[in-house]
Amino acid sequence: MTPKKTAQRSGKTPVKKTSSARKPEALRAEIGILGGTGLYEIEGIHDLKEVRLRTPWGDPSDEYILGMLEGRRVAFLSRHGRGHRFGPSEINYRANVYGFKILGVDRLISINSVGSLREEIHPRDIVFADQFIDKTKRASTFFGEGCVAHISLADPVCPQLSRHCHQIAVGLGIRSRLGATYVCMEGPAFSTRAESRMHRIWGGDLIGMTAATEAKLFREAEICYTTMNLATDYDTWREQDEGVTVGMIFENLRENISKAKEIIRKAVATLPAYDDTACRCRHVLAAAVVTAAKHVPAATRKKLALFVPEYRGR
Ligand SMILES: [Zn+2]
Repeated sequence: MTPKKTAQRSGKTPVKKTSSARKPEALRAEIGILGGTGLYEIEGIHDLKEVRLRTPWGDPSDEYILGMLEGRRVAFLSRHGRGHRFGPSEINYRANVYGFKILGVDRLISINSVGSLREEIHPRDIVFADQFIDKTKRASTFFGEGCVAHISLADPVCPQLSRHCHQIAVGLGIRSRLGATYVCMEGPAFSTRAESRMHRIWGGDLIGMTAATEAKLFREAEICYTTMNLATDYDTWREQDEGVTVGMIFENLRENISKAKEIIRKAVATLPAYDDTACRCRHVLAAAVVTAAKHVPAATRKKLALFVPEYRGR
């Protein structure tokens, strides 16, 4: 839970070494950016500090890169780690999200690459999913161990943040869509043709391996969340296609990533000041925790104290 170290990184902007432990303000950010496949860094962040965080759920995928982007304090994390070291089922999602919470992030823009399950969603389109079908069985809650909580997931992304980012994409002339159903699969293999057809019948528009898990955890953390989905391929449902390959994905990602970075920069620059009355993301836990505080074990209260104010100081 405490900053372990700061590190140097390569790049044009020099990284300041900072004793973050003595300067807590250096460990704060208002906007989080979670990068996915192909997006391991954001250019233009200055006054960089790299911070390694420890959490009650273990280590995040990489160091958080803190700095200023377009005049705002941001924190960037590479979901798979720089060098792409963690597969979708190996990522420590809870540690990643908890780290953003430690940093005080109110709003988070996630970048996830996806396959398209619809003819009208073309490779290189950018889609802001607003619904999920989660097929994974991985850890996707901070609760348990004596504390039960059932959060509402009817609307799993922040409508304001998604709309804002989508409007930026439209303003930039990028082919994009607001609203889609994202089917989240375990991976790491891509779907068979039968699975891909089944996902279409279910009502899926996109197929990916990460966003549903993160949406649940960011909701529990009461952080506004939007997922910017970069379409790279048509998955395997189109009989005339050969099927999805990593080569195809990276070819389409190259162009998509530069568009995504443009959207992020402009979205960060124009995001209104945080207003916790503008959406319900900040107000989900009060009604979700079922277990009476006196029955929650001390160790669990300690782990959850960042989320549940009444557990602090117990
Ligand atoms: Zn929100």
